[in-house]
Amino acid sequence: MNDYKLCQRCIMDTTSDPHLILDDDGVCNYCHAYDKSVEEHGYKGKESEQELEALFDKIKEKGKGKEYDCLLGISGGVDSSYLAYLAKQYDLRVLAVHVDAGWNSELAVQNIKNMCQKLGYDLHTVVVDWPTMKELQRAYMFSGLANLDVPQDHCFIAACAKMAKKFGIKYILNGNNWATEGILSTAYQHSARDWRNIKGVYKRCGRAKGNLSKYPHQNFIEMYLWDPVFHHVKFVFPLNYINYSKKMAIATLEKEFDWKYYGGKHYESRFTKFFQEIYLPKKFGWDKRRDHISSLIVGGEMTREEGLKEIAIMPSTEAELEEEKEYVLKKLDITDEEWNYIMEMPVKSEDEYPNDKKWVAFCMKIKNMFCKKR
Ligand SMILES: [Zn+2]
Repeated sequence: MNDYKLCQRCIMDTTSDPHLILDDDGVCNYCHAYDKSVEEHGYKGKESEQELEALFDKIKEKGKGKEYDCLLGISGGVDSSYLAYLAKQYDLRVLAVHVDAGWNSELAVQNIKNMCQKLGYDLHTVVVDWPTMKELQRAYMFSGLANLDVPQDHCFIAACAKMAKKFGIKYILNGNNWATEGILSTAYQHSARDWRNIKGVYKRCGRAKGNLSKYPHQNFIEMYLWDPVFHHVKFVFPLNYINYSKKMAIATLEKEFDWKYYGGKHYESRFTKFFQEIYLPKKFGWDKRRDHISSLIVGGEMTREEGLKEIAIMPSTEAELEEEKEYVLKKLDITDEEWNYIMEMPVKSEDEYPNDKKWVAFCMKIKNMFCKKR
């Protein structure tokens, strides 16, 4: 690439975002956005810890007389697993919800069961109808879009919200955090919350004639108005109130729960592993590890030199990648010829499919005027 740029503070580059902007010191726009977000929403020592206590007190208050205080969406990954542990430290009565979209690694299932048992949490697993999930994911494969993880992410959010309403739970604990996820390229990402976009992709790129009624989903009205305003269901992000670090979280989970790491962020799903290790780098030139490593660098958990060394080492061999690819393609009924077509077809943006972007931007603007995201 002629105009290749690499940030001098993190390791984001023009493969992560072709429109990366560097300032006069060679620091990228993602670093600047991260600093601003952390200043506004990040961990601030004792002040944040007091806010967390106040938040958990409020959650307990709302849970009085009910079976559970809150719901925790658990994927089996580091962040949601650590959050399960944290909630127990504050004696929250948690309903753990896991969504099985057909791609769980055995390790993920074992981690989740093991943790919930030791913490004494009820675990409810929502199993997504596989024929529906398969056709939706297959449609995304033929969409030319970058974010193939939308079908998994959307049903996770929707299933948690539906379970919360079923049990009258007002708070959903979410493991997203600034410390380990503060940098994420926006170049190829579109929100997994856009139901109109999902339906549009399914209709135009799918081969199935049926509808998506068996797929857990939330439309725009439910997600932005009905659930938060009328049912008062709220997503909260407790890891932003503590001095959270990935190393500390893994060490705690291994020690307390015999928890096992998967070797990569979000590799608890075999589809996500394929998506991040094969589809994105080979079609888009984007290695999502750059975002994850950059987050740890700006968060002070890793030096830039360590990050550059880590990104240079491929986590899987070509033979392992080939095996992973074969597994995914077979499961989605995709032939080698179709795979070649997928890799060669033009890249598309979500704007080429129906979407709710304008409405979401409008609602977020209103919400941000009244709410503080943590
Ligand atoms: Zn940077």
